[in-house]
Amino acid sequence: MTHAFWPRLLVTLLILLGICTTSYAADTPYIPNIDFLRIASDTHLTPEEALASDNWQALDETSPNFGYIEDTIWLRFTISGGAAIDLLEVGYPQLDQLDFFLVRDGKITRHVLTGDSFPFAERPVLHRHFLFPFKHAPGENYEILLKVQTKGAMQIPLRLWDSQSFFEASSLESQLHAVYYGILITVIFFNLFIYLALREAVYLVYVLTTLSYLFLITSLNGTAFQLLWPTMPGLQNHAMLLTVPAAMFFSLLFSRMFLRLKVTAPRWDQVVLFTILLNTLAALSTFFTTYSISSQLIVALAIPSCLLLTVLGPLLWVRGNRQAVYYTIAWGALTLGSAITGANKYGLLPNNFLTAYGMQIGSALEAILLTIALAARLYQERQDKIEAHDAELRAMAARRSAELKLIDHALHNPLTRLPNRSSYEMVLSDLIARIPDRRYAVVVIHLNNLHLVTKTLGHRNSDEILKLAAQHYSTVLKDLPGALLIEQNDRHNHLLASLDLQTFALIMDADKAEAVPRKVVKSLDEIRMPLDYLGMQIPLDVRVGTAIYPEHGMDASTLIRRAVIAEGSDRAKERGMAYYKPSRDSFSADRLTIASELNQALRDNRLALYLQPKLSLATDSIVGLEALIRWPEKSGTIQPDEIIALAEQTGLIKPLTRWVLQQALTIRTRLLEHGWPLGISVNISPNNLREPDFPIFVQRLMDSFHVHKGMITFEVTETSMMQDPANSLTTLGVLSTAGIPISIDDFGSGYSSLSYIKQLPASEIKIDRSLVTDLATGTQDQVIVQTTITMCHSLGYEVVAEGVEDEATAEILRRMGCDMIQGFLLTPPLPFDEALDWLRQHDNQQKSQASAY
Ligand code: C2E
Ligand code: CA
Ligand code: CA
Repeated sequence: MTHAFWPRLLVTLLILLGICTTSYAADTPYIPNIDFLRIASDTHLTPEEALASDNWQALDETSPNFGYIEDTIWLRFTISGGAAIDLLEVGYPQLDQLDFFLVRDGKITRHVLTGDSFPFAERPVLHRHFLFPFKHAPGENYEILLKVQTKGAMQIPLRLWDSQSFFEASSLESQLHAVYYGILITVIFFNLFIYLALREAVYLVYVLTTLSYLFLITSLNGTAFQLLWPTMPGLQNHAMLLTVPAAMFFSLLFSRMFLRLKVTAPRWDQVVLFTILLNTLAALSTFFTTYSISSQLIVALAIPSCLLLTVLGPLLWVRGNRQAVYYTIAWGALTLGSAITGANKYGLLPNNFLTAYGMQIGSALEAILLTIALAARLYQERQDKIEAHDAELRAMAARRSAELKLIDHALHNPLTRLPNRSSYEMVLSDLIARIPDRRYAVVVIHLNNLHLVTKTLGHRNSDEILKLAAQHYSTVLKDLPGALLIEQNDRHNHLLASLDLQTFALIMDADKAEAVPRKVVKSLDEIRMPLDYLGMQIPLDVRVGTAIYPEHGMDASTLIRRAVIAEGSDRAKERGMAYYKPSRDSFSADRLTIASELNQALRDNRLALYLQPKLSLATDSIVGLEALIRWPEKSGTIQPDEIIALAEQTGLIKPLTRWVLQQALTIRTRLLEHGWPLGISVNISPNNLREPDFPIFVQRLMDSFHVHKGMITFEVTETSMMQDPANSLTTLGVLSTAGIPISIDDFGSGYSSLSYIKQLPASEIKIDRSLVTDLATGTQDQVIVQTTITMCHSLGYEVVAEGVEDEATAEILRRMGCDMIQGFLLTPPLPFDEALDWLRQHDNQQKSQASAY
């Protein structure tokens, strides 16, 4: 529905009403020429004395209105117009006391006493207006004398009728009133039902508002007295006083709610609240002051209240509040109607249907329009709810698809799209666990020559060759008996995995394969043939190594390692393929020695922690350092992740992590001494989370170094926690309560389940290097990283991208809204002193750049 609809409807209704007007003006009551006498309220006159007074004056107006006066008013007028005239109507039902005298030739022939301070039943005619029927013989000289006393407004609208016309007119009027009441009552019930269904206060307040109007109008025109409490004039007077503030009270309250002033116009809301308070006080005051004072007070207060209600609509309409449009038109209708009726009362407008019933017409229109507006609002709210729900569903779907992408990424090699090492390991472990009495051959296929190909033909070609090899080998393997599927879904059937860039692997049912040795040899020969690429025969120097479960190992990682050892053996070099033999394993013996060397190095404090800075992209300043383990003596031979793997396998990880933590605190103390209050992140192994006394150790350590509280962050990898989700969750909970910020490391390299991560007490997510490295070239990764950042932000995490090596990648991340970066672009991890120098240098650069702008 468009807004233009409402003004048009209003205009149409007004025109229709205008047509009714002409037919209404047909009856002809008679308004006499009146003389009046005003006497102080403490002076008492008999009617004879009044008639004899010298102070009678002619009244200019046709409808006497003296405003709020205490004095007694006497009126007199002659009845002419023939015998037909036999009824006097006083049309203001609030007058307290009326004495009606019929005077013939100067003599009082009849006296009637009535008014709204007497029970309704005592009236000469039971009507909401005061009616005095009389008889007079034609040709004789009759006069009517009227004495009026009232505490409210002294308005005495007089009309002389012949009774038949009066009752005809009155019946028409009653019908119009019935229509009006019908409309209001319908509106009341309609909104009441909506309220009962929805329990939204605004509908109830609207019901009360409309009810208060109904009361106001029926009290004003005397119907309430006639119908509700005819025997209780005192109550009638008091009810009359209460209807005006009640109507104001509910109208203001309704406006507040309907226009949502609290949010849309808080200042005006205050004004409205204040006005509500004033009206409440005025209503209360009616119990303590005289009728005359209260009624003046109430009318005086009603004027600014109405004014306020009138300006609110347009004011908010201008500000673009949609509800205000309805409100303005509706309230405008009522104001206009009341103004027309008011103007008519004061004789500014001629007396016709429209002017006499302006207020009723206005309030009926108001009631209808606001009911429509409330219904429209109901519809709008429902619509908004549906939209919000849709948006939520869409967000959920987006999150799900991002999760799927992450999982897909985590389980596949980005280049060959084959299952990667983790998924190969999982499948193998799973097979061993499910069907342990079968023999499995773990076969690795290594392309020994690939780095030479890369050097000769460049990266792009070598990537293509790798993809080609993957396709070719997959085809060959299809015909190999005993080859087991590594991945099977509606999109792919993979027999092959990519362990790393130049190594493929497969799993075979060893018994089946051994039953057809020729076929196996034939397939492997085919794999080892040079590859045809753009007409070139590319020799990849393929070597195959095999380890058999259970002979060569009981678990996936051992089997893979041993298959790799077999592939690297001299025998494989000579013959292209080899089985694992312990004699070919030069590593296993060494391992024990290395482990004990590591133990010794740890005791002798010969390990080191290097530091790598973390940069905030928003401020371009360093916000923290990550501590990474180094074994300086062995820097060429054993990598940090191997140190950790070794420590984990030999139980050394427990003392190692404790050493790292103590070392990190020492480093931070020294940093503070040099004026660098930076936080330090340390890496925690999943094994540590399983140590029962780990949280206590951490808590004691942190308690004894209060300066570092909250500044030592623990980095844990999500995959590591998945090994024992419930336990990890508990331990992290304890650590987090002890004031240790938690960061999720290597995010996106494993089964990223945001639903699990959401439960962790983490504050930071580190996006794995594998997602960041190719960011500048791969759009697929960009999508993943962007969704990861957005989702992590929506869950309240800060996001760090690790492994940022060039400016282009940093720029992309900055655009994506990533919070922090870490990587070789800034610096590789550095020993303490060098890290300190680097920090100073970076700081100086920052400052000089800042001053250059
Ligand atoms: P991480 O926690 O993911 O650490 C980041 C690794 O990325 C570090 O390798 C770091 O030197 C390297 N790196 C940083 N920036 C770049 C870059 O721009 N490009 C590339 N290519 N690499 C970058 P690092 O020091 O060899 O450590 C390897 C892993 O060993 C660590 O991965 C962490 O999981 C583990 N680790 C290291 N120190 C500790 C330790 O004290 N305790 C435990 N439990 N694990 C540790
Ligand atoms: Ca880390
Ligand atoms: Ca990491």
